[in-house]
Amino acid sequence: MRSVSIFGATGSIGESTFDLLMRQGGPDTYRTVALTAGRNVRRLAEQARALRAELAVVADESRLPALREALAGTGIETAGGARAVTEAANRPADWIMSGIVGAAGLMPGFRALAHGGTLALANKESLVTAGPLLMTEAARHGARILPVDSEHSAVFQALTGEDIGAVERITITASGGAFRDWPLDRLSRATVAEASTHPNWIMGQRITIDSASMFNKALEVIETKEFFGVGPEQIEVLVHPESLVHALVGFRDGGMIGHLGAPDMRHAIGYALNWPNRAHLPVARLNLAEIGQLSFTAPDPARYPALRLAREVMATGGLAGAAFNAAKEAALDAFIAGHVRFTEMSGVVEEVLSRLSADSDLGKSPANLDIVLETDRVARRIADEVMKETHRI
Ligand code: NAD
Ligand code: MG
Repeated sequence: MRSVSIFGATGSIGESTFDLLMRQGGPDTYRTVALTAGRNVRRLAEQARALRAELAVVADESRLPALREALAGTGIETAGGARAVTEAANRPADWIMSGIVGAAGLMPGFRALAHGGTLALANKESLVTAGPLLMTEAARHGARILPVDSEHSAVFQALTGEDIGAVERITITASGGAFRDWPLDRLSRATVAEASTHPNWIMGQRITIDSASMFNKALEVIETKEFFGVGPEQIEVLVHPESLVHALVGFRDGGMIGHLGAPDMRHAIGYALNWPNRAHLPVARLNLAEIGQLSFTAPDPARYPALRLAREVMATGGLAGAAFNAAKEAALDAFIAGHVRFTEMSGVVEEVLSRLSADSDLGKSPANLDIVLETDRVARRIADEVMKETHRI
C-alpha cells in the first residue's frame, strides 16, 4: 500500500489533495502517515478519521487538547506545535504533499526529502528561499520533487521527453489578479476584501492577494529558475485573463509546447499523485469552440512592481530569495491587518532588500538551512522597522 502525508491538509491545496485521495479509494488505497494543519482541529480530525491517519498534528499548540478530544477513542496519535509539524516529516512516506503556506513550509518539506520518496511541492516558498539546498538534498537522498504549482506542473509536463538544453524560453501565465482592469490611481485604496477575490482560481487568502499584486508571479518566476535550472532571461510572464493556458515552453527549433486545462488545482495535484501515470481526474473539460478566444498581453511594470523585484532577486542570488519572501510575508501581514496600503507592499519589500544588501552579503549562497531561516528572521524584523519608520504601523 502506498503511504502518504499531507502538510497543510486543511488549506486549499490540502483539501484538494484530500478530495483526490478519497476519490482514489481513501484508506483502502492509501496508508496515511500524517496530516497536519495550522489551527483548524475540527476539520483536521474529520480528515484524519476519513483517511484513518496514523498521526494528526496541529501547529497551534493551544489547540492540541481540542484535537485530542476530537480524536479520542480512534487510536490516531496527536501532537501539537511547530516542532511537531516538522517531526511529522521524519516519518517516512512514499508521497508527501507540501501544502503549508509561507516559509513555515520549508522545514517539513526539507526533512521529508531524507526518505527518498516523492515530495509534491505546492509550497513555492521552499524553492524561492532555499532552492539550491532543496534540490541538493533531494539528489543526495534520491528523492523526487514534483511541482504542484499549476504553471510549473504545466512546464514539467511540456518538458516530458525533451532535452532542457533545447529550451529557449519558458513562459508562465498570470491572470492579472483582482485589479487587472482597475485604474492605477484606484489601487492604493484597494481593500483586503477586494484583494482576496480571484477572477478564476479559488485559493487560500494569502496567495489570492499575492495574485492581485503579482507577488505570487514574482515568486513563481524565481521558482521556475530554481526548479528547471534555466536563466532568468529565459523566463517570461504573460497576462492571460482566461487562465486556461498555464505555461508554454519554447524550443530552439521555434516550436512551442503549451499546457491547457481548467483552473482547478486538482489537475496539477492529481498529476503529481499519479505520476508517471495519468489517472482519470474530476476536472472540467475545456470546450475550446465555446471559449473561442484566448488572449495574452505583456504585464504592465507600473501596475506590477513585484515582477521587477523578482528580476533583482535573481540577479543577486544567494539569500536574496529568502529575504524577498520574508519581507513580502511581513508586508502582506501588515496589509491584511490594515496597516499598509496595497500599493505600499512592494515599497516595503524593496527597502528591506536594499538595506540588507547594503550591510550584508545577500548574494552569498547559504551553506545550510539555518542561515536561510536566520535571513528570514532578519528580513521580517527589518520590514517591521521600515513600516514603523514610515508610520505605516
Ligand atoms: P491555505 O492558506 O489555504 O492553507 C495553508 C495550510 O497551511 C492550512 O492547512 C494551514 O492551516 C496551514 N498553515 C498555515 N500556517 C501554518 C504554519 N505556520 N505552520 C503549519 N501549518 C500552517 O493556503 P493554500 O492556498 O492551500 O496554499 C498552500 C501553498 O500552496 C502555498 O505555498 C501556495 O503558494 C501554494 N499554492 C497554492 C495554490 C492554490 O490554488 N491554493 C496554487 C499553487 C500554489
Ligand atoms: Mg501558480
